[in-house]
Amino acid sequence: IISALRKKKKKSPVELRGKEEVEFLYDYFALFYSKELTDEQKEFQATARKFALEEIIPVAAQYDRTGEYPVPLIKRAWELGLMNSHIPESCGGLGLGTFEACLITEELAYGCTGVQTAIEANSLGQMPVIIAGNERQQKKYLGRMTEEPLMCAYCVTEPGAGSDVAGIRTRAERKGDEYVINGQKMWITNGGKANWYFLLARTDPDPRAPASKAFTGFIVEADTPGIQIGRKELNMGQRCSDTRGIVFEDVRVPKENVLIAEGAGFKIAMGAFDKTRPPVAAGAVGLARRALDEATRYALERKTFGKPIVEHQAVAFLLAEMAMKVELARLGYQRAAWEVDAGRRNTFYASIAKAFAGDVANQVAADAVQIFGGNGFNTEYPVEKLMRDAKIYQIYEGTAQIQRVIIAREHLGRYKA
Ligand SMILES: Cc1cc2nc3c(=O)[nH]c(=O)nc-3n(C[C@H](O)[C@H](O)[C@H](O)COP(=O)(O)OP(=O)(O)OC[C@H]3O[C@@H](n4cnc5c(N)ncnc54)[C@H](O)[C@@H]3O)c2cc1C
Repeated sequence: IISALRKKKKKSPVELRGKEEVEFLYDYFALFYSKELTDEQKEFQATARKFALEEIIPVAAQYDRTGEYPVPLIKRAWELGLMNSHIPESCGGLGLGTFEACLITEELAYGCTGVQTAIEANSLGQMPVIIAGNERQQKKYLGRMTEEPLMCAYCVTEPGAGSDVAGIRTRAERKGDEYVINGQKMWITNGGKANWYFLLARTDPDPRAPASKAFTGFIVEADTPGIQIGRKELNMGQRCSDTRGIVFEDVRVPKENVLIAEGAGFKIAMGAFDKTRPPVAAGAVGLARRALDEATRYALERKTFGKPIVEHQAVAFLLAEMAMKVELARLGYQRAAWEVDAGRRNTFYASIAKAFAGDVANQVAADAVQIFGGNGFNTEYPVEKLMRDAKIYQIYEGTAQIQRVIIAREHLGRYKA
């Protein structure tokens, strides 16, 4: 919608003022609430849906069992233009908005959220370079991802610090034209598959230095000497996604790979979430929609007491509750995506979308298992995987509790201002 309107106005929405801005918003609401996607959006959605149904779903259980990284699916998603959708056109990418990324993500997640997380982790790794990289950095590191299906990763969390990002201890020391990095990262998605990393390290050793000045964001080539990649972690769900610890020992990075400047890293690392949390929420919605579909089909067929279980009102109402949650969680991510695509700060909406959809995915997947009865508890049926896969949506990219901390801060900030 944004790109269609941008073409019509021949300006970016952020440049519009006064009457033009009002007209833009009016057009946006008209398109948004007409539920009409643009032809381009419909095409991406349909391509992603077809790919999920025909190519992901048939192999998802197998990847879940083996934990193998889904290389053929990633290559195919790349060929279809379903990966890296937000890489700017100036770097050879599609330059799509967050809204489009969300539409694609919901469909991929419907197929398998392990595959979707591997793909989404690329967006997370790239986002600091998109929002803060200079032209040379963008062309070099984003450009190569449009030439072949490469992965990247976002290295912030450490064994001792996840929610409390300012507690990270990885150090980067300036030595001449280089920085020397020492430290340990943990739970890095695509950790063992990445071609390069976005890495956050402390550059100001003074413990009193504020977070807004103490940390620096770097782009680090994955084959730099001194990088030791840990074993693949065996997780509860999304098991084909590659999660690892990584040790950095005297890793030398040229100063050209600093994003913006020394001290700017914390803001960059946190700012990326405004654009990546809506797609994470869309992933959770895709999972919830799949659980609802599976449960509905089962409830129409399974008979107890002489009738399909869907005719027991308790089951029908459970399906109704699940449907309500899926629909509202989708509106949540759409709102968050729309805000950021329109050039407005969306931190409040991104956290609402992520927190709500993460909870919904867990509730709806658990309800789907309930509707399947004993079969729901068994690996021969698809819903136990959905329940395991759902849990991580309340943990990564900011836990359910941290989202509420952000929502409360943003909400109260409006009253105090
Ligand atoms: C599969 C997987 C993939 C991941 N991928 C990545 C990745 O690609 N890159 C990356 O950098 N990180 C990644 N992470 C890390 C993830 O973002 C962190 O695990 C998450 O932010 C939580 O941090 P923590 O594990 O240290 O938990 P902690 O911060 O120790 O939190 C423990 C508990 O305390 C709660 N808590 C903490 N502080 C507060 C507070 N102030 N108020 C209320 N409650 C609080 C938390 O909500 C949580 O319930 C991944 C994690 C997993 C499991």
